Amino acid sequence: MENCNTCKYCGSVEFVEKTDLIGMHWGEVICAKCDRHIRWLPDPSVTRKFEERSQTIDEALNAGILSGWELMFIRNIRERRYLTHKQQEKFDQICVKHALKIPAIASG
Ligand SMILES: [Zn+2]
Repeated sequence: MENCNTCKYCGSVEFVEKTDLIGMHWGEVICAKCDRHIRWLPDPSVTRKFEERSQTIDEALNAGILSGWELMFIRNIRERRYLTHKQQEKFDQICVKHALKIPAIASG
C-alpha cells in the first residue's frame, strides 16, 4: 500500500511509521527523506472495535429485526469510528435486546 504513495514534498517513496507520539494521535507516517508528515495512523484497537461493531450492525440490518428508532440509530452510528458513552450504551442495549453479539465494549 505504501508503495503506491510518493511524498508530495520531495517525491520519495520511502516512509517511516512513528507510533510514540505525545498527544491525541496514535501514530503518523512521515517521509523517510524529508521527515515531513504524510498522514495519521489510526489506532488499531479503535479500528478493530469499529470493524466488530460494523459486523454486528450489518448482521442486525440483514436480519431485519430492528424497530423504527433502533434502525435509525444503528444507521446513524454505522460509519462512526468513535461512539459517545451514550451511543455505546444504547448500542449495547440493542445488542442485548436482540441477542446480538456484543463487540468488546470501549474502555474509557
Ligand atoms: Zn519527502
